[in-house]
Amino acid sequence: MATSSSSRKSTVTEGICYLVGSGPGDPGLLTLKGKACIEAADVLVYDYLCNPELLRHAKPGTQRIYVGKKARDHAMKQEDINALVVKLTKEGKTVTRLKGGDPVLFGRGAEEAQELAEAGVKFEIVPGITSAIAGPAYAGIPVTHRSHASQLTIFTGHEDPTKAETSLDYAKLAQAEGTKVFLMGVERMGEITGELMKHGAKAETPMALVRWATHGRQQTLVATLGTMAQRVKETGFKAPAVAVVGDVVNERQSINWFENRPLFGKRVVVTRTRQQIGAVSKQLADLGADVIELPTIRITEPTNPVEFGELVQDCHTYDWIVFSSPNGVEAFFKMFDKLFDDARAIGGARIAVIGPGTGVKIRERHLAVDLMPEKDFVAEGLVKAFRDHQDIENLKVLWVRAEEVRDVVADGLTALGAIVDEAQAYKTVAETEDNLDGIERLKEEGADVITFTSASTVEHFLALGVPLPEGIRTASIGPVTSAEMKKRGLKVDVEAKEHTIPGLVKAVREMLVG
Ligand code: SAH
Repeated sequence: MATSSSSRKSTVTEGICYLVGSGPGDPGLLTLKGKACIEAADVLVYDYLCNPELLRHAKPGTQRIYVGKKARDHAMKQEDINALVVKLTKEGKTVTRLKGGDPVLFGRGAEEAQELAEAGVKFEIVPGITSAIAGPAYAGIPVTHRSHASQLTIFTGHEDPTKAETSLDYAKLAQAEGTKVFLMGVERMGEITGELMKHGAKAETPMALVRWATHGRQQTLVATLGTMAQRVKETGFKAPAVAVVGDVVNERQSINWFENRPLFGKRVVVTRTRQQIGAVSKQLADLGADVIELPTIRITEPTNPVEFGELVQDCHTYDWIVFSSPNGVEAFFKMFDKLFDDARAIGGARIAVIGPGTGVKIRERHLAVDLMPEKDFVAEGLVKAFRDHQDIENLKVLWVRAEEVRDVVADGLTALGAIVDEAQAYKTVAETEDNLDGIERLKEEGADVITFTSASTVEHFLALGVPLPEGIRTASIGPVTSAEMKKRGLKVDVEAKEHTIPGLVKAVREMLVG
C-alpha cells in the first residue's frame, strides 16, 4: 500500500484529506484540531450525523458536499464517497471529510483511509468524541464505574444477529462483564436483546437508549434488557440512538445533569441575523433548550454608502454620536476603519447608546459610553435619557441608524433643540439562503416558543409564509417589536421586562418554567 505521500510526485499543489470526527452533535464537542481542519478546508464533505452548525467554522466560499446516510436514505453510496474524496484530494484540494462521532468507530472511516492510501494521496485521521461514550454521559450514564463496571464492550447493532452470516458472537457478548454499548441498533432491538438473553444475559439488566444524544433534542428511554424492545415499540422511539446495557444505567438517577437543566425538552426558535443568532442560542442552549436557528434578516450596505462615508468622515465635528443598535456600531466602525488609521479621528465626540448590547460593542472598541437609558432600552428611552442628562440645545448630534427604523430619535432630539444629522449605516433585508435547515425543522418538529428581537425579524419571518405550529407561544424583546407583532396579527405571549437579549431569555424561561 502506498502510504507515503512524500515520495509521490506532487502536481501543482498537493491535496490533503482530513478524516475528522465531528463529535456526537453538541458543537462544543468538536476537537480544536477538528475545528482547524474545517477552517482550512477548500471542500467539506459531511454526512447526516454531523451537526450542520460546525460548517460555520469554514471560511467563506468553502464548497460543501452533503453525502447523507440515514438508514435506507443513502444520499451517496460508500464507493462513490470514497471515489469523491480521492478525486477532490487528487485535484490538490484540502478536503475535510467530517464524520459523526469518531471517524473510525463504525464510521467506515477505515475504508475511506484505505482508499486514500491506495490512491497515494495525503491524509490524516483526526479522532472525535464518539457517541458511544458521550451519548450515555449526556444521559447521566458513565460507561465505566470503579465499583461495578470495569469493562466496556462496544458493538454494532447493524447486523441481523439471527442471520447465519453475522460476524458477532452473541454468546460471548452476552457473557461479557461490565457495560455493553451498541450503535445502530434501534431497528433490530427485539433481535439484539433477544439474542443477548438467549445466551444468558439477565432480563432485568438495566438498559437505556439515548436518541440525538448531546443535541438539544436529546431523548432518553430507560427500561431493562427484557422490556426495551417492547418500550421502543410503544413509544415509537426512533434512530439515531446509542444503546447502553448494564448497572451503570442506574447512575443516571443521581447524575442526570444534561436533562435536568431548566429548559430541557423545550424547543425555541430564534429569528435574528446569522451573525447575532449565536449569542441568543447559546444562552438558551446553556439553559437546556433545543434551539432552532432560523435567521430571517441579513444586514447589508446602506443604499447610499458614499453619503454614509462622508458623515463618518466628519464624525469628530459632532458633540454626540448616537448609536441605536449593535449593527449600527459595527457598520460605523467598519467605515471608520476604512477611512482612518488613527482611533483619535473620532475626536472629542461623546457617545450615547440605546442599551447594554449596543454599549458592549462600543466598549469592544475601547471607547466609553457617556449616556445610556437607565431601563427603557428603546428610542423613547434614549430621548428621555438626553432630556434628563443635559441641555442639548444647538449641540450637533450624529445619529447612526438603520434605514428602516422609526424616526423617534431624530424627532425627539430635534425637539430638544439639537441639530441632528442622520447617518444611514445599514439596511436590513430578508435572509434568503441560510435558513432552510431552520425552516425545515420548524415545519417538521414544531416548537414551544418563537422569539423576536426586532420589528424587522417579525416582518421578515412572516414574509417567509411558514405557518406557526399550533400552540406555539411568542416572545418579544420589547414594546416596539410587540407593536409590530400585533399590527401583523401575531399575539404576544411574553414581552421582556428588560429590552435586552438576557432580558428576553429570562422572559422565555419564566414563561416556560416559572
Ligand atoms: N462514528 C460514530 C458512529 C457512526 S454509526 C460515533 O463514533 O459516534 C451511526 C450510529 O451512531 C447511529 O445509528 C447511532 O447509533 C450512533 N449515533 C451517532 N451520533 C449519535 C447521537 N448524537 N445520538 C445518538 N446516537 C448517535
